Amino acid sequence: MDKLAIVVPCYNEEEVLQLTSKTLQGVLDLLIEKGKIAADSFILFVNDGSKDRTWELIEKEHAQYARVRGLKLAGNVGHQNALTAGLLTAMDMCDVTVSIDADLQDDVNVIEEMVDKFHEGKDIVYGVRSSRKKDSFLKRSTAQGFYRFMSLMGVKTIYNHADFRLMSRRAVEQFSRYEESNLFLRGMVPLIGYETDSVYYERGERAAGESKYPFKKMLALALNGITSFSIKPIGLITALGFLIVIGSVAAAVYALISYFTENVVPGWTSLILSIWFIGGVQLLAIGLVGQYIGKIYMEVKHRPRYNIEKIL
Ligand code: UDP
Ligand code: MG
Repeated sequence: MDKLAIVVPCYNEEEVLQLTSKTLQGVLDLLIEKGKIAADSFILFVNDGSKDRTWELIEKEHAQYARVRGLKLAGNVGHQNALTAGLLTAMDMCDVTVSIDADLQDDVNVIEEMVDKFHEGKDIVYGVRSSRKKDSFLKRSTAQGFYRFMSLMGVKTIYNHADFRLMSRRAVEQFSRYEESNLFLRGMVPLIGYETDSVYYERGERAAGESKYPFKKMLALALNGITSFSIKPIGLITALGFLIVIGSVAAAVYALISYFTENVVPGWTSLILSIWFIGGVQLLAIGLVGQYIGKIYMEVKHRPRYNIEKIL
């Protein structure tokens, strides 16, 4: 019988943790009862350096329920790293993993369908949101714009899939060989290459607490996703530079002709504006190239992605 580990990254989730624990235990109980997973399947809560009582609550749950385990990271390393820590820790203790957010926005009832697909021989099963009616307009439109932009930049991601997915042990083992520091799991998992499938669900509202992804963090995740997976932006800059050079040569030719025909072009405004514009484009271009260099810098250091403080 296959042993399932549900991995849940938690950052300041004291408001929802007990409910999440109860709900997920219910899912495990049901699956165990139906004989789909082993009786010693478990939930692994990863505490990502929470500043509230999250870890105390995890300890309490662990003391009370045998199926709850905890992983305490030393400090906040962010959702993607915390999830990776959880998956790589769970890997040695189970046969199949399901990762899910702590806030119960993803429908836990499709976990059963995921496990069924796993038994049919799929190594990776994506949870895909069939509708985002419950998300705010801003969240929905920025998220969908992001998925479109990613595919435009040549990054293969699953549309409307976040980090709710099933991965078999061997898929996680394969994933553990990707040693990059700038993690973007949504882009990395499709690279593993094993047989995949999807299950669909409606994304609900957060059961309690507030989003731990403010706009700034979302933007950072999106930028990281693009610059970790695509060098197209650098190509675009080169193309833009090329176009501007051609344009300025044409303008120079025009100015020369005007000079000889004594029809001198007046206007400081246009001159100053074009200098500012080109200056801006240059700064943007240098900044973008700098982003990639910064990434190389971080990767070259090869620092550990997380430190484990305690395992329950
Ligand atoms: N999270 C984390 N570390 C962080 C930020 C978030 O582990 O630095 C976790 C958080 O506890 C939650 C998941 O990542 O389980 C997704 O966060 P959230 O639900 O706030 O994001 P949203 O659904 O609003 O995009
Ligand atoms: Mg959420």
